[in-house]
Amino acid sequence: LFDFKIILGKNGVPVAENFRLEQSTIADTIQAGQVRVKTLYLSVDPYMRCRMNEDTGSDYLQPWQLSEVADGGGVGVVEESKHDNLAKGDFVTSFTWPWQTVAILDGNLLQKLVPQLVNGRLSYFLGAAGITGLTALLGVREKGHVAVGANQTMVVSGAAGACGSLAGQIGRLEGCSRVVGIAGTDEKCSILVQEMGFDAAINYKKGNVAEQLRELCPGGVDVYFDNVGGDISDTVISQMNQNSHIILCGQISQYNKDVPYPPPLPPDIEKIQKERNITRERFLVLNYMEKHEASVLQLCQWIQEGKLKVRETMIEGLANIGAAFQSMMSGGNIGKQIVSVSK
Ligand code: NAP
Repeated sequence: LFDFKIILGKNGVPVAENFRLEQSTIADTIQAGQVRVKTLYLSVDPYMRCRMNEDTGSDYLQPWQLSEVADGGGVGVVEESKHDNLAKGDFVTSFTWPWQTVAILDGNLLQKLVPQLVNGRLSYFLGAAGITGLTALLGVREKGHVAVGANQTMVVSGAAGACGSLAGQIGRLEGCSRVVGIAGTDEKCSILVQEMGFDAAINYKKGNVAEQLRELCPGGVDVYFDNVGGDISDTVISQMNQNSHIILCGQISQYNKDVPYPPPLPPDIEKIQKERNITRERFLVLNYMEKHEASVLQLCQWIQEGKLKVRETMIEGLANIGAAFQSMMSGGNIGKQIVSVSK
């Protein structure tokens, strides 16, 4: 059994060495209501950066404790069960899966998975058919005001990441006539256009983003799916139309800084936002739990029909989860960053 224990938090850029691998033992027997699970896949996500601070800045996020096992989204298989609704061989998931190879968990806190929904690609339940996909779909539906036939242009930042790559495709499926992505490498930009159906993509690390955006969105921006915040978002907001909408999904460019969430816009950008009546409401996928089940089915249907293209970046081994987290935070991933723990 391997656990991860955090040895550093607070401000600054996370590194693999913030995590420590330890070997320990678990109980030989399980109690009524419990299951013993083998971990198959773990998710590393930007929000975990906030859990490395003593104050996460959000009521719904608990800080990870020093020298305690970290946790997050996970998928595994039941190896032994004393829970009425779970049997050996069932595939299960949880948002609070401990970063261990094997664990004893309360069966009531696990959701049973149907592998056929994702053609057996169980890791998708941590990405396109899980919270990531839900974030993209519900973000667009709840905050995007996208309508078929409205001839809307959507811009997505963090576009080649887990949420962003899906959000652009969903924007198109829901009716946007033009979808432009912003991402950090040429490779990511070409995947967005060639594989994921974006009309164009901008590498924000090269050239002038404002100029390229003006060329690629000649009618202005109607919907902005914002994953990153900071300078990129200020540039996009400056080119948004009257009565347009920001989907305030995340602000990853600010997560290593000690700022409140959502970070306030600079005064000149806030002035534009107010004058043009641009909505910028906080969006949190967990506020729409009642829509999750039907939305997962929608996502799975699109995946099966080939309408939603899914990318994953897989790193093998629990020992590498700190490195996987660091890599994702600094753009090493295309699509969802997953850690494969065991087969
Ligand atoms: P992700 O996009 O797969 O991975 C993070 C990506 O962010 C990296 O690949 C990197 O790509 C980009 N990035 C890192 N630093 C950046 C910077 N300074 N400026 C611009 N881009 C930067 O992660 P994800 O899980 O899909 O999450 C994306 C966003 O959604 C995050 O902000 C997250 O907090 C948010 N989120 C919100 C909710 C919700 O309920 N509101 C739920 C889930 C996730 P590049 O190569 O392009 O830099």
